[in-house]
Amino acid sequence: METKPSIVKLHKFFALEAERGYDNRAVVGGLTRVLDSWEGEARAEGVPEPLIQVIRARLQDYGRLKPQSRAEMLRGLWQRIQRSLQLPEEMTLETPANGRPAPQKPPAAGKEKPAARPPVSQREKPKPSAPAARPSVQQPISLKELRAPVTAVPNIGPRRAKTLERLGIRTLQDLLYHFPRRYDDYSTVKPIRQLRYGDEVTVLGTVESVQVRQYHTKHKLVDVLVSDGSGKIRARWFNQTWIADRLRKGMAIALAGKVDQFLGRLVLVNPEWEPVDKEQLSTGRIVPVYPLTAKITQRWMRRVMKEAVDTWAPRVPDPLPAALREESGLLPLPSALQKVHFPENWDDVTKARNRLAFDEVFYLQLGLLQQRHRRKSQKARRFEVSDDWLEERLRRLPFTLTGAQRRALEEIRRDLASGAPLNRLLQGDVGSGKTVVAALGMAIVLAGGAQGALMAPTAILAEQHFRNLQRFLADEEGVVAPEQIRLLVGNTPASERREILEGLRSGTVKVLVGTHALIEDPVQFADLQFVVIDEQHRFGVRQRAALRAKGDNPHMLVMTATPIPRTLALTIYGDLDISVMDEMPPGRKPVETYLLMPRERERAYTLIRREVERGHQAFVIYPLVEESEALENTPAAVKAHRILQEEVFPDFKVGLLHGKMKADEKDEVMRRFRDGEYHILVSTAVVEVGVDVPNATVMLIEGANRFGLAQLHQFRGRVGRGGQRAYCLLIPETENAVEENERLKALTETNDGFVLAEKDLQQRGPGEFFGTRQSGYGFGAMRLQMANMLNVHLIEKARALSQRVVEADPELRLPEHRLLAERLEQFWSNGQGEMS
Ligand code: ADP
Ligand code: MG
Repeated sequence: METKPSIVKLHKFFALEAERGYDNRAVVGGLTRVLDSWEGEARAEGVPEPLIQVIRARLQDYGRLKPQSRAEMLRGLWQRIQRSLQLPEEMTLETPANGRPAPQKPPAAGKEKPAARPPVSQREKPKPSAPAARPSVQQPISLKELRAPVTAVPNIGPRRAKTLERLGIRTLQDLLYHFPRRYDDYSTVKPIRQLRYGDEVTVLGTVESVQVRQYHTKHKLVDVLVSDGSGKIRARWFNQTWIADRLRKGMAIALAGKVDQFLGRLVLVNPEWEPVDKEQLSTGRIVPVYPLTAKITQRWMRRVMKEAVDTWAPRVPDPLPAALREESGLLPLPSALQKVHFPENWDDVTKARNRLAFDEVFYLQLGLLQQRHRRKSQKARRFEVSDDWLEERLRRLPFTLTGAQRRALEEIRRDLASGAPLNRLLQGDVGSGKTVVAALGMAIVLAGGAQGALMAPTAILAEQHFRNLQRFLADEEGVVAPEQIRLLVGNTPASERREILEGLRSGTVKVLVGTHALIEDPVQFADLQFVVIDEQHRFGVRQRAALRAKGDNPHMLVMTATPIPRTLALTIYGDLDISVMDEMPPGRKPVETYLLMPRERERAYTLIRREVERGHQAFVIYPLVEESEALENTPAAVKAHRILQEEVFPDFKVGLLHGKMKADEKDEVMRRFRDGEYHILVSTAVVEVGVDVPNATVMLIEGANRFGLAQLHQFRGRVGRGGQRAYCLLIPETENAVEENERLKALTETNDGFVLAEKDLQQRGPGEFFGTRQSGYGFGAMRLQMANMLNVHLIEKARALSQRVVEADPELRLPEHRLLAERLEQFWSNGQGEMS
């Protein structure tokens, strides 16, 4: 007599359970779950009721038993079933599956995880007793081996390797570090009868029917009816007819997804699905969702990843010395890599992410601190001035320095006198008065007879600085004569340029101000000792290094107007000393800031009209709407400009500024606006840089929700510089995004950039701030994938630990730091190596 399907199924589950060492995971949700659908089936097939009851009673408590008892119970129960149904002899629980060698437990994996099951694709041809192609999982591998091509993973051949390459995944390490973008939580398993609309669940059942149907003439859908002991539900897939070929009536499957409703009935639309007798990667658990490109499916990726993680993650060496790791309460790297891909619960996710994010910040920090250490041990020329000399300089300024400016100046003065190179970041909100501090630092160096240079990202800013330096340094008793300060930009006439270059070489020109024209080849200084870089994030690593290289290990001051919360600033600028200017010159009026809804736009235009009629000017900022817009399409600003000029303000002159314009075109527009030729300037975010337009009193920002608070605050800093009442109007894209709009409200409540930065950190995580240094330092290429998830506490921890390591062993020569040195080198070489 043919064995009944329900009994065959039961046998399969039992055998699988035995194979897994009775961990109660052969079936999603535990073996007891089988009963939901099995009972009904068994009854329908005529399995004797008393036997059903026995099976039911035994399996009921399976999950609560210890593995040893589970083994005994299943074996006993199976013998009983065998006897009572007179099943064939060979259908024991001691199947070949059980004869397999005990699952390999590599030493590095520790006790974290029950051993993996064989690779999926091997299981597809169910020959479970063949772990042949599997590499020996005994020893940790070297970091070099981690850079082996992905084909080192069983079942990744050249074809799959090609596919993965589209995601930038070439090596084993790339693969293991391709982290899920998010997770779907399908760990809740429910009987069909208990499903509710909106549930995110896994359902276990048997396929009752499979139909392929037409919809909308061109498209097809697969309609599948699934039942368990408790009820039936329809699953429906659109445009994936292949699924119909894989599903058969009577198959036991797991479905996972969000329960939807259609014509009053519950349905699962495009759910994840898997046969229940395979290891569950897409159902019945927290399911990883990966960043993908076309032609790669989540299913495929999960399977490949499982393979890679099972085989290799346990063998990944952990460069972090164990003592440091334990002190910080971090997971070992192998288990972090396992859990980030296949977590068993949310706690796993948090712990794994913490460890991986910690690493990113730790290596970042370690590299920066090492750099700082190396600099500090170099020699630089000393520049010292007397208190009287300095007081005299200050007396000649048109205003009194704020306390913050004085402190920053003293720090600079101390560095210049120290004999080691000054290497300092001057961080201060827009309008806090950084320029004068830089000028005074430069004055100290000029008094010592050497030369100085100041580099700014645009010609118009360079001109502004040029005029200011003239004002601060070349008054009648100045440290230099007016003609000793020169401006060099892209369109400086050739004859003048020649004269400047000659003066710099001979040493008659003392100060050069300019754009990156400064770092071009022919520029040579007689004795450059002080370098200032304004808006440092606008420059690349090489540009900064190039300016530094114009002198012989000169002192370097970099400036930024992006306030960054202190903890983060110390981390992101770990190679620099930092002076913070958190005080505004007296008499500044805060910019009045309002949040307007799109339907209130007319009010904004009315205000602009009124201000322009009073002789003032206005900015209107538009975001880039699409990522691709920067490259191809017309920025929203271009369309808006036409409408504003032709329809809204036909009687005013409206200028336009956007990122696709050439640098000198941009400068020209900015100059015209500054000189009052335009009443209104429509612009994309490029206007951010610190140009002074004292007459501008309105800043209108469209699509405000697309910007970070810090950036919005930068925009706002463009207005109200002339002492008049000034306004900042924020218009989000929609009224409905309550949370987003709540975020924007912060701007209406404070004018303090540091307070806002702190808010940004709380609301959006540190990612944004790591970004602020990216362009300048090549952090971007380092793939900080996780760092933005890190909390401040762990960032501080990473900083403290890396500090200790560098203090004890700056060049990482100790044996316990060997792996660390290797990993660090690798981490930074993904980026740009040098930092400044
Ligand atoms: P930022 O820090 O944004 O670069 P600036 O250096 O351009 O700021 O200074 C903004 C304006 O404030 C300039 O016009 C400058 O002359 C003026 N300023 C700087 N310091 C003071 C001060 N202590 N008192 C009054 N005005 C000041
Ligand atoms: Mg500035």
